[in-house]
Amino acid sequence: MKNLFFLIYVALLFFVPAKEISAQSTGYNPHKAFDPFFDNQPGTVYRSADGQPGPDYWTNRANYLITATLDTVQKSISANETITYANNSPDKLSFLWLQLGQNRFAKDSRGAAVASQIFNSKRFIGGFNIQSVAIAFDGKFTKADFIITDTRMQIRLPRALEAKGGTIKIRINYSFKIAPIGNGRSGWMHTRNGTIYDVAQWYPRMAVYDDLVGWNLLPFLGAGEFYLDYGNFDIYINVPWDQVVASSGTLENPEKVLSPTTISRLKKAATSNKTVVIRSGKDIHNLQSRPAHTGRLTWHFKMKNSRDFSWAASKAFLWDAAKANLPDNKTTLAMALYPVESAGKNAWNRATEYLKHSIEIFSKQWFPYPYPSATTIGGPVGGMEYPGIVFCSWRSKNNSLWMITNHEIGHTWFPMIVGSSERKNAWMDEGFNTFIDIYATQAFNHGEFAPKSDHEYNPQGGSPARDIVPLMLNPKAPPIITYADAFPRKLLHPVSYYKTALGLVMLREYILGHNRFDYAFRTYIKRWAYKHPSPLDFFRTMNNASGENLNWFWKGWFVKKWTLDQAVTSVKYVHNDPTQGALITLENKNQLVMPVTLKITESNGRTEIVNLPVEIWERSGKYTFRFNSTSRLEKVVVDPDKVLPDVDDSNNVWSAGKP
Ligand SMILES: [Zn+2]
Repeated sequence: MKNLFFLIYVALLFFVPAKEISAQSTGYNPHKAFDPFFDNQPGTVYRSADGQPGPDYWTNRANYLITATLDTVQKSISANETITYANNSPDKLSFLWLQLGQNRFAKDSRGAAVASQIFNSKRFIGGFNIQSVAIAFDGKFTKADFIITDTRMQIRLPRALEAKGGTIKIRINYSFKIAPIGNGRSGWMHTRNGTIYDVAQWYPRMAVYDDLVGWNLLPFLGAGEFYLDYGNFDIYINVPWDQVVASSGTLENPEKVLSPTTISRLKKAATSNKTVVIRSGKDIHNLQSRPAHTGRLTWHFKMKNSRDFSWAASKAFLWDAAKANLPDNKTTLAMALYPVESAGKNAWNRATEYLKHSIEIFSKQWFPYPYPSATTIGGPVGGMEYPGIVFCSWRSKNNSLWMITNHEIGHTWFPMIVGSSERKNAWMDEGFNTFIDIYATQAFNHGEFAPKSDHEYNPQGGSPARDIVPLMLNPKAPPIITYADAFPRKLLHPVSYYKTALGLVMLREYILGHNRFDYAFRTYIKRWAYKHPSPLDFFRTMNNASGENLNWFWKGWFVKKWTLDQAVTSVKYVHNDPTQGALITLENKNQLVMPVTLKITESNGRTEIVNLPVEIWERSGKYTFRFNSTSRLEKVVVDPDKVLPDVDDSNNVWSAGKP
């Protein structure tokens, strides 16, 4: 999800009143920095101590069969949904919980009360109109006993759903009005050639039952996104004949809903590295571009092993496509659909190219893209990710179109493949995604838009580690692990995107190196693909696969909001003779610890880089070591490349000339 309130956030991040910023040293206690943290919590049969899913790990599954009708006059959807829910847990379930995302727009919703920044249209009153709920253990449906509380529905079962493989069907008839433009994660907008509908949170979805808390039932307030189980989708969408529908899934009946020309262009795109126009501006006004010229058509889509399904529809869509090349000679189809207002050679005409290359880069570097297609929609939603489809602002162009396309499709890896809880741990999807975006931006087209510098990461464009210092010192900034909805509004993005991504950059570039970091991070992705990792599973996997006990870093950077202040405080010589060696004293003045890099310049012109491990801080905040000097030292600089967020760099340099 993209931060829509860039200016406010930048103002807050970088123009904090002086009285709120203090680089005063906060003191250092080595026993706090190096305490055992989670070392005394053993693994379980569900989550092993080394961070992998345990021998008895399970996830429940939810398959969805939905028949939906789009009413373009009322701007509403009515649908019939059948969920097949499998309880793979070791527990019998006497009740079930579902998420009713649309109820965020209901009158008096909790989300309206907290008025999250991304849902700024308070006047729209919507919500699910649930007409019927029925359940079947054995094929015969009976009326369900249910209660709705805000964005959640509980179904109380007449008998418990069996553990370890028990299944139940839930059938729900419902309708809702689609939220208008300005409502964050879905909505509609008018364009010159017709309305665009970005449709999401459009069906009651099973809440996740897991081994950590049981049912995950934080309400949908707006800022916290989603946490969903995996399953298969079989979706029928009935729309007026002139609507073009794009979705998370694969189109099963192209011959029924597309013209022969459109189908042949799609075939061409499936083997083309260059963008192919599937539907042009002329086609929008040409009846022959559609297989029917009256009535309605039903688009049938399927998707396997996905945590969600979203779609978009419009008669105003232009449509481009190209193949994206995946590892092992596989391919997927990258597509962009957008209104004529978005077209332009530095605008949406390049969206397919951005999407294709993002997918190729992420697939090669981390884990193969898993779906047969990937679609980006230019429409009313500024930036929002769903599996196989992303919604981006129709206004985006240049750098911002690359950035938003790259970021939203980057969410395929976090949280669509690695299924962490967005509602609780925004950093595990937003931050991890921002991190992989940094390197993708370097890799794309010889760094055309590099280095990544935008409202998600390093907005000032200088040293990302030094530019984050005001945030580190901002007393209102919560720790990274804070639940998404508990963040002060303007600090969710700086902390969960920027600070998290920078933490991983420091791990990769400074603490572990590329080889060890990449092996560990890929191990995390592979282990937890299509599963639900917790923060501890990530920390444990990284510790084990990299071979470092990084608890000091997890605790200081992610769990606490400790700050770093490394200093070089004195230089003396052995027997006052520089040729016998220099005694350099360093101090760690604040609670966060890091390995130390020093650049030492001697008066005879010799320079040397000295790397010291983090263990120098295990006993004390003061550390003196002997450097094999050959002449008097001219200068000693801590963190010479400014890669660490040192909150006070006035003590980072020792000079011979200084008093
Ligand atoms: Zn995001």
